[in-house]
Amino acid sequence: MLRFASLASGSKGNCLVADADGTRVLVDCGLNLRDTERRLARLGLQPGDISGLLITHEHGDHAHGVFDFAAAHGITVYLTYGTMAALKAEGRVIEGVRMVFVNGRESFFIDGLQVAPFTVPHDAREPVQYVLSDGERRLGVLTDIGAPTAHVAQVLSGLSALVLETNYDRDLLWNGGYPRWLKQRIAGPFGHLDNEDSARLLGALDCSKLKHLIGAHLSQQNNKPELARAALARAVNCEESWIQLATQDGGFDWREA
Ligand SMILES: [Zn+2]
Ligand SMILES: [Zn+2]
Repeated sequence: MLRFASLASGSKGNCLVADADGTRVLVDCGLNLRDTERRLARLGLQPGDISGLLITHEHGDHAHGVFDFAAAHGITVYLTYGTMAALKAEGRVIEGVRMVFVNGRESFFIDGLQVAPFTVPHDAREPVQYVLSDGERRLGVLTDIGAPTAHVAQVLSGLSALVLETNYDRDLLWNGGYPRWLKQRIAGPFGHLDNEDSARLLGALDCSKLKHLIGAHLSQQNNKPELARAALARAVNCEESWIQLATQDGGFDWREA
């Protein structure tokens, strides 16, 4: 059994929980300790139920609460060396927390949960994203990527569930109030996926086994839920109501892959 839920998704904090037959991990922890604990309780979990923290990259919306949570509850942090180095340079690594270094080429197990990190183009030191599996079903998580790559398309084919960044709508971004440098960063090759990029990536994937498609990391200024939903629905040729969206405050409730 592979199930998953989200505590939060967006530029103010990201945190996803996956559960493979009782082995539970968090992917990122961009919320503070109290919020993480409170939102885990909302999903029926306690911190002690978590076997590991998988980190994608050092940006605050993904890593803000990682070491506080890991230190408070004695949980191992899985991250790339580059992510650790970036966090350490900012003084955000807490002594005594057990760390395991991962890389974008090697899968590993945390008990019964198979973890496959993969590399992505994003403006961080050594970012990865993850595919998680119970041996049968596969859940892919992909946010914070400037542009889809052939490698990513290969890794994400044949999934049972996909949580996919639909960060912004191009017109809303370019006509909006962000400073020019920030617009360029977001839309650049190491920034984020817009709705159309995500749709194009989906078009390159084998989606025949996909039971859940969830748009994530939506910008509150530069996107609208209906635009993200419509783009994803068009890409996989389904009803818009089938597409789910992760929200900043609510994330999304348990889904079974
Ligand atoms: Zn982010
Ligand atoms: Zn980022």
